[in-house]
Amino acid sequence: MVKICCIGAGYVGGPTMAMIALKCPEIEVVVVDISVSRINAWNSDRLPIFEPGLDDVVKACRARNLFFSSDVEKHVADADIVFVSVNTPTKTRGLGAGKAADLTYWESAARMIADVSKSDKIVVEKSTVPVKTAEAIEKILTHNNKGIHFQILSNPEFLAEGTAMEDLMRPDRVLIGGRETPEGQKAVSALAAVYAHWVPQDRIITMNLWSAELSKLAANAFLAQRISSVNAMSALCETTGADVAEVAYAVGKDSRIGSRFLNSSVGFGGSCFQKDILNLVYICECNGLTEVAHYWKQVVHINDYQKSRFVNRVVSSMFNTVAGKKIAILGFAFKKDTGDTRETAAIDVCHGLLGDKAQLSIYDPQVTEDQIRRDLAMNKFDWDHPQHLVPSSPTASKQVNVVWDAYEATRNAHGICIMTEWDEFKGLDYGRIYENMVKPAFVFDGRNVVNVEEMRKIGFIVYSVGKPLDP
Ligand code: NAD
Repeated sequence: MVKICCIGAGYVGGPTMAMIALKCPEIEVVVVDISVSRINAWNSDRLPIFEPGLDDVVKACRARNLFFSSDVEKHVADADIVFVSVNTPTKTRGLGAGKAADLTYWESAARMIADVSKSDKIVVEKSTVPVKTAEAIEKILTHNNKGIHFQILSNPEFLAEGTAMEDLMRPDRVLIGGRETPEGQKAVSALAAVYAHWVPQDRIITMNLWSAELSKLAANAFLAQRISSVNAMSALCETTGADVAEVAYAVGKDSRIGSRFLNSSVGFGGSCFQKDILNLVYICECNGLTEVAHYWKQVVHINDYQKSRFVNRVVSSMFNTVAGKKIAILGFAFKKDTGDTRETAAIDVCHGLLGDKAQLSIYDPQVTEDQIRRDLAMNKFDWDHPQHLVPSSPTASKQVNVVWDAYEATRNAHGICIMTEWDEFKGLDYGRIYENMVKPAFVFDGRNVVNVEEMRKIGFIVYSVGKPLDP
């Protein structure tokens, strides 16, 4: 029986391994993590992450061929294939701070694999890492002097949170990069055989290691670039009377461009886009490619600009001050169908409004009060120096109220900011909400969720990103 161990039971490690366990009943899959509380949650009825369809798959496989454990070393030692799916955040200090990927977790995982291994292993990069990371990892693994052979593969993950299980079930492609030696190619075939249980052959793409590593950064940069492109257009639409939805529709009808990923918004969030682009920028700079670095940096810059534009619009619309005014924040997750708040635009918008002394009443169907308070306490966006975080003010917590109902959040509010495109927000009784708000009542739709015309008929003053402003 092939044994797989995955180091890192997070948003990627958990769902990807659950899918492998589901599709390959003859393979034993153990997901390990240094976080005991996370492992306990995976072994409970309340999984540590919310992802549609995940519960059912975990329930079907858990204790059959899917296991979660904090005994990291034991399961790594036993495995034939070790996936490494640890976090690779942006470095916060030292060389490359603010841009380069922090590979601390990866390095300690690699050292541990080298220390505990007693048999040959395939080590798979599942985390998103800078191009050439496999070279560094090889150095750590092959210096164990125990006569053990490791083959490093790059197998980046392309799932999107909120649709992870669907993405894993029917991936557009599975990339596997390996060394071009016979041993390297044997390892590539072994991993391809795992995916072949459910992924059509023409979607399993093998390539050299560096192409696979770079493809993941490139894909995220292209996706984020589309969002920044349409968001840059949204600013022009607002000042000219064009409607960004119509412009995006027209542009997307061109088959060379395509219609997906062209929704304008308050800005992208999530743990990946910004960090991966900054990582790409850093790699370009290290390779002396200043102009290329500058090009990609603009994608992040426009995203920051979009968030600050949104805050400015809220404050300027509400007679240039939100001091003491109650503003309902509907949605805090970085997108719908996830409880993940990492790098969510809501954090920066909330800080912008708190800075102007607003009273916030926040509601998200999947994000806990603890999480919201932790995010707001930790990350404060420095509008004067985008990409810098400064400590949050202690008084800010008194300006924040977290509630469990959209109607409660909006009661007696002066304005509403829609920050996440939860389906629930489309079906709210906005007539009832309007009745209970202070007049004039404002709606600032950061995700183009509401029907602007209908909202105006109710009586709201509406700002929706990229739409013509109120007459
Ligand atoms: P995460 O923070 O949710 O999970 C990482 C886990 O690794 C944590 O639970 C942490 O405790 C664990 N860990 C860290 N060091 C460890 C060690 N030495 N031993 C055991 N466990 C350890 O992160 P994530 O969102 O799952 O992302 C993981 C990687 O996948 C990142 O590189 C990310 O860029 C990439 N990725 C993420 C997504 C996404 O949508 N979240 C999509 C594609 C790729």
